[in-house]
Order: sequence, then structure tokens, then C-alpha cells
Amino acid sequence: MQTDVVVIGAGAVGCAVARELSKYQIDVIVVEKNEDIGGLASKSNSAIIHTGYDASPGTLESQLVVAANPMYAKLTQELEVPFKQVGAILPAITEEQFEKLPSIKAKAFQNRVYDIEYLTAQQIKEMEPNINPDVKGGLHIPRESIIDPFILVQALAENANENGVEFMLNTKVTGINTENGKIKSVETTNGTINTKYVINCAALYCDEIAAMVGKADYKVVARRGQFYILDKNTSCKVNHIVLPIPTKITKGKLMCPTIHGNMLVGPTAEDLDNKIDASVTTEGLASIVTDVQRLIPNVNIRDTITQYSGLRPNRNPEGLHVDYYDDLEGYINLSGVRSTGLTLSVAMGVYIAETMKEHGADLVYKENFKKTRKGIKIFHEMSKEEQEAIIKENPKYGNIICRCETITEGEILDAIHRPIGARSVDAIKRRVRAGMGRCQGGFCGPKVIEILARELGVPAEEITKNQPGSYMVTGNMR
Ligand SMILES: Cc1cc2nc3c(=O)[nH]c(=O)nc-3n(C[C@H](O)[C@H](O)[C@H](O)COP(=O)(O)OP(=O)(O)OC[C@H]3O[C@@H](n4cnc5c(N)ncnc54)[C@H](O)[C@@H]3O)c2cc1C
Repeated sequence: MQTDVVVIGAGAVGCAVARELSKYQIDVIVVEKNEDIGGLASKSNSAIIHTGYDASPGTLESQLVVAANPMYAKLTQELEVPFKQVGAILPAITEEQFEKLPSIKAKAFQNRVYDIEYLTAQQIKEMEPNINPDVKGGLHIPRESIIDPFILVQALAENANENGVEFMLNTKVTGINTENGKIKSVETTNGTINTKYVINCAALYCDEIAAMVGKADYKVVARRGQFYILDKNTSCKVNHIVLPIPTKITKGKLMCPTIHGNMLVGPTAEDLDNKIDASVTTEGLASIVTDVQRLIPNVNIRDTITQYSGLRPNRNPEGLHVDYYDDLEGYINLSGVRSTGLTLSVAMGVYIAETMKEHGADLVYKENFKKTRKGIKIFHEMSKEEQEAIIKENPKYGNIICRCETITEGEILDAIHRPIGARSVDAIKRRVRAGMGRCQGGFCGPKVIEILARELGVPAEEITKNQPGSYMVTGNMR
């Protein structure tokens, strides 16, 4: 196999980098060890598009997050990604927190986030009726936004693919070969790829990739974040992203609406001694309740429909790095993409392309670059007339598979048959939300397996949940 660029990892960052490079006359292959695009951290985060108000001023992270935030309004329209600028509120509940507000505002200004404003206690109570009545005042950051993180990555990948990028899934990078101080090829579980450039977007595993070329002068530690998802009909809701006053370790535990109308509560921040333990724990979940109740006393955890956790790739020593080495031409190493990587991914794509140009890459713009992507048509968002018309055209849209989220067979078929289509139950869930609702797939799960098996022409026993070997059906009872 032969290409110009190998991008390692199909998370938000890898897919954003690939999509940006697909604007140029250059061959790109994204290599991903998982069975689907979507990454690891990119599937399990708070789904907030940050402004960068609280980044460390002057850092690359601040530069990229601040640059990325304004890109989303247009990009999400072009790529049909659910996105909403709901804004964030930072309520000060204690006098001590109230005294911190000016320094938070000053830091936001240092980061060039100038639209942050003070709110009185009364204003906060009007904006968030469920706020702790002891609130003393706070800050409003209007451009903090929420997004569908799964669709964002799918849209970036699908659009990159439409513009010529190849995706190799179920393919792990196992080695990198160099010659005379230059990148020569990448070894994978599916063969060798000759390439001029390697861009390491492996996040949690970026230190292991860097070690393949002798550039691992840092370690990555997994910092776990646990979350609750509450039912759409929960008794206590918020309208904005309600954030605590941050500490040095974490932005803290928040409560916010998701783009699909659930409530998200969390996350924790726990450093692990391994990179795989994405479980939830009794202590972690209990700490979320205690902390979030300080902001929203009536948060109703009994309305939980699921819990999950994600692993932030925490770099040691800390900080976001993009390294290009004089003694290793063609190798670009990303590390420390941690708590803001979903947001900054799209600016990172631009930054990488510019870095390549600065180091001599001849990136010629493609005249025929297609910047838009059509998403899956969502049946329950259509008008009655549109629903009737689409059922007439394709009766599969008249067959509701997921009752909780009202997802039709037509949408599931689109998820399977579009470019980089779904091959597993979770891949369907992340594309069309079948199984994301109150029953968490208890009702629609078997139907989704049946549809996948039929469409892919394999027995149901071969359909997986989310990775090779994660079979869900062992055989027929009768
Ligand atoms: C709890 C939590 C909350 C967060 N909240 C937010 C938020 O609200 N807003 C925000 O902007 N960011 C947030 N983040 C950060 C954000 O989720 C990530 O930084 C972002 O998704 C970027 O992901 P990525 O592409 O760098 O990594 P990933 O999504 O982890 O993707 C890396 C990919 O590399 C692949 N890979 C690794 N090794 C190999 C190999 N050897 N061969 C082939 N493939 C390989 C992996 O399988 C994976 O798919 C949060 C993260 C967590 C965990």
C-alpha cells in the first residue's frame, strides 16, 4: 500500500485532521484499531464546545480552542451536525467563590473571550429556576455550546471519505519504519503502508506510537470521568451548561442538557494506573451527586437511564503539544489533547495542515473539494407531510424500531449503507440513537441485530456489540 499521509486514530482529532487534509491534492489513509470510527475519548465526554475562557493563557490549547469555537456555527450546518449554543453559567454559591469571579473574567479576557459577563443572583435564578437559592451571582459565557459528539466525528470522517480519504478499520499500527531521518512506512495488522508522513492522533496511546520512533519523552495517564445521563422527562432540568467554579485539577462536575434533551451530570476526574478501566464506581457516582447538588439541589438521580465513563489522555508532563522533529522528517506527534479535544479538533486540522506547509509540504488545494455532507434524515423531526411522503417513497420509514427515541428501520438502513457504515449494534446507536433512550436497547436491541445480520448477509451470531468478539447472540432457543 502507498499513500502520502497516515493518520493514526479515527477519533475527533484524527478525523478532523483527515478532513482538513482532504482539501488538498494529497493521499491520506486513516488507520484505526477499533471496528468503527469515533475514537475512545471522543465517544465518552461532556460534549461541550468550549470557548477557551478558562484555558491557560498563551498556550497552544488556548490558541486552538479559542480559534475552534467560532468555526462550529458554519461547520455544523455544512456537515449537518446537531449543535446548539446554549451558553454556560458559572454560579458562585459561597462568598469565597463569588470573590473568584473577577479573576475568572480576567483570565477569559486574557484568552480573548470578551463576551463573558457578570450575572446577578436574580438573573441566574430567572435563567435557571432550579439553581441553589443561596447563589450570590455568577458569570455567563454565551458561546459555550453543546453538540452531538458521535455525529461530529462521523460527519468529519464521512466528508473526508467523500473527498478521497481512505479509512482502514480494525487495523492496529504496530510499528513505524524510518530511513535516513525520514518516515518510510507504517506497519499495521493489515499490512505495510508506505508513506511520507505519519500524524499521531492516538490520544491515550500516543506515547506508545511515539515510542515506535524513539520520541516518547512523556507518558500518558488515563484520567477517568464518570457521568450520569438522566431521562428526558426528569423532574429537575437546567437550560444552560451549569458549571462549578473550576479547581486546578478539573473544570469540576457540571449539569447540562444534551443536544437530544437528556440531562448530563458529571464528570469525575480520577487518575488511573491503567488505560482500560472505563467502568463506573459507586464512589465516583456518589461524588457526582454530592458535588452537583451544591449547584442544583433537586437534581433527580433516580431518573438516571444510564451511566458511562471516559478516559482523558492526561500527558505527563502536562500540556498540549504538537511536535515536528528536525531529525525525523514527516513525523508529527500530538500529545496532551485532553479535556478540550472535541472542541479544538477542527482547529487542530488547520494547524496541522499549516505545520506541514511550513515544513515544506506542497499542499495544493483541490478545486473540487466538497465541503458539505448530508446527514441521516431524522424521521421524528419531520413534519407530518414529510413523514407521509418518505413512508410512501420507502415503507421502511413506517417501521418504528426504537420506540423510546422513535427511530425507524429506514434510518437504520441508511446508517448501515452510507459510507463508513455501521457494522455493530453500538455503531447503529451512535449514528441514529436506536438504544439511547429510556430502555437502553432492551426493546430494539434484538431487532437491530436482526437488521444488521440481514443487511450484512451474516448470521446474527456474528453481529457484535462494539468490537471484534463482542458477540451478543449465542444461538437459537428453538
Ligand atoms: C470525561 C471526558 C470529558 C470530556 N469533555 C470534553 C468536552 O466537553 N469538550 C471537549 O472539547 N472535549 C472534551 N473531552 C476531550 C475529548 O473527548 C477528546 O480530547 C477528544 O475526543 C479528542 O479525541 P482524540 O481523537 O484525540 O482521541 P480518541 O477519541 O481517544 O481517539 C484516538 C483513537 O486512536 C486509536 N488508536 C490508538 N492507538 C492506535 C493504534 N496503535 N493503531 C490504530 N489506532 C489507534 C484509538 O482506538 C482511538 O480510536 C473530554 C474527555 C473526557 C474523557
